[in-house]
Formats: sequence, structure tokens, C-alpha cells
Amino acid sequence: MSIEEYRLKNKRIRDPMSILIDGKKTAQDIKNEIAARVAEIKQAGGKQPHLAAILVGEDGASQTYVGAKVKACEEVGFTSTLVRLAAEVSEEELLQTVEDINQNLDIDGLIVQLPLPAHISVDKVTNRIRPEKDVDGFTPANVGRLTLNWPAYVSATPYGIVELLKRYQIETSGKHCVVIGRSHIVGSPMSILMARNGYPGNATVTLTHSKTKDLATICRMADVLIVAIGKPEFVTADMVKPGAVVIDVGIHRIVDETKKTGFRLIGDVKYDEVAPIASAITPVPGGVGPMTIAALLYNTLQSAEKKVFG
Ligand code: NAD
Repeated sequence: MSIEEYRLKNKRIRDPMSILIDGKKTAQDIKNEIAARVAEIKQAGGKQPHLAAILVGEDGASQTYVGAKVKACEEVGFTSTLVRLAAEVSEEELLQTVEDINQNLDIDGLIVQLPLPAHISVDKVTNRIRPEKDVDGFTPANVGRLTLNWPAYVSATPYGIVELLKRYQIETSGKHCVVIGRSHIVGSPMSILMARNGYPGNATVTLTHSKTKDLATICRMADVLIVAIGKPEFVTADMVKPGAVVIDVGIHRIVDETKKTGFRLIGDVKYDEVAPIASAITPVPGGVGPMTIAALLYNTLQSAEKKVFG
């Protein structure tokens, strides 16, 4: 089917552009819903949800991410605690800090901002977080629960994508979903979520990675294409089936002297050429990014209300 035929057949398409999946607006809706629930909890005499974050070292991007998470906590009425540790902190000291937060009855959720300095084992630290407080969904217990389709804290980025698909009522059952990238925080959990029995889900999933052969051919078979490869504008129009739903997880800062800041953000998808042939697409910025923080807040609320582990 040609692109024009597709557009004529599919009433959801606002010619000439596809549906823009607005992550910024959806994230704000979710934050408003969370804030309303927190207000109810407080009115009933309950405790404010409390998120703790551990930041090790002075990495600029990590400071920005953690800062945005703390600010988002304030917006929805959560308490937040930011523990800053020097880059030279020993692994033992970091593990003890995690343990202290595990034992703190006021704290509902704990995140350890990645990356960690090379002398610290991410696996050891992740595994020390109590699964009940693991609102990033990185611990083996939560990944296992997700795989079994049990209640679990789902890693924030894939969870944000699931919520976008749901709120935009994108059909996934019986569709072919191609995920590019198999990272533990995005691609792998995404593939599990799309394959599991539920909505969104029930898709036939192909998980592709750096050793995949003939990626473009596989991508062209996708009804839903989720791109988390970490390469700027890697996915071009010739890799996308007309009418596909395209979710772009990538974030890259590139120099742009026409901007006041001197840079702009782009994704893993060449938006200008893919948007006209997709039936729906997430932009960068304003797509998956804002949803990640909203999902983290949602997981923290779930923890405060003992909704996942009971
Ligand atoms: P990653 O670098 O950990 O993983 C990239 C994956 O791409 C790997 O699994 C690798 O096998 C695969 N890959 C590499 N080359 C490939 C090729 N030629 N063909 C097929 N697969 C290939 O990345 P990540 O942490 O999953 O992040 C991916 C992107 O998403 C990055 O740009 C990152 O900045 C962004 N990100 C955004 C958010 C958000 O909130 N929007 C959150 C996390 C990550």
C-alpha cells in the first residue's frame, strides 16, 4: 500500500502529518493525577510519599536528571531526600547508605542514579536495594516479577512508553513489535511488556541488537517500532513501514548555533522524514523523556500505597 493509500484508508491520520504522541502533555496529566491522589492521602491523615535518590560524584548529566526528579517530587507533593556522595566513596559506604534507606520506614522509594564510578559494582548496589523500594524496577526481584507478569515496579522508561500506548489507545494485540536495543533499562523490559498477555501487549515481538543482521528489513516489518539504540537519527524513512507507530527513546544533544542555548535535542529516529509516513510518532524532545519521570513518580506512589508488594 502506498503512503497516500494508507492515509486515505486510515481516518486517524491528520493529513499530511501523523498523530503526534505528546509525552509532555501526557506526563503533566499523570503528574496532576498523582498530585490529586497525594492531596487525598494527606487529607485522610496519611503520610506523604517519600522518594530518596543517591547521587555519586559530580557528573553533569546525572546532576540534571536527579535535579529534575527532585523538582518533580515537589510538584506532586512528595517528600524527597537527595543523598550526595563523593565520587571516591567506597563501595561499602554506598552499600551502607542503601541499607540505611532500606531500613528507613518513612522512605517509600529509592533510586541510585547511574552511572556509578568504575570502582563500584552496579549489580551489587542494585541488588542491595529492597525490592519493595526499588521504584526504578532494576532489581532482579522486580525484573523477575515483570517477566512472570506479576505486579512489579517496571523500569520507568518502558513503563512511560506503555502508558503512552495506553492513553493514545494504540492497538498492540497481534501486531508485530520490533524493539531496537536490548539494554536492561529500556529494550529488554520493553520487549517483555509488549509480548506479555495484557494491554498494551499481546504483540509478536522481535528484539534486535548490535549483532542483528539486516536490521532495516526487520524494522520494515514492524507495526510498532520502538527505538532505543542510542545513535542519533539512526532510523530513516526507508526502515519504516507506512502506517507504523514509532516510539523514539533516544536523546542526543547536538550543536545548533541558531538556538540560544547553542544546542538542540534529537532522537534515534530521523523525525522529519519518518513522521509523514508513520501513523503515530513520539517527538524528541517532548515524547518519551518527560514520561520517564512521571512513571518514576507513579511507582513511588504505588509503593507508598503498598500496591505492588502488598
Ligand atoms: P544502550 O547504549 O545501553 O543500548 C543500546 C542498544 O542498542 C544495545 O542493546 C545494542 O545492542 C543496540 N545496538 C547498538 N548498535 C546496534 C545496531 N547497529 N543494530 C541494532 N542494535 C544495536 O542504550 P539505552 O540505555 O537503552 O538508551 C538508548 C537511548 O535512549 C540513548 O540515546 C539514551 O540516551 C536514551 N534514553 C532515553 C531515556 C528517556 O527517558 N527518554 C531513558 C533511557 C535512555
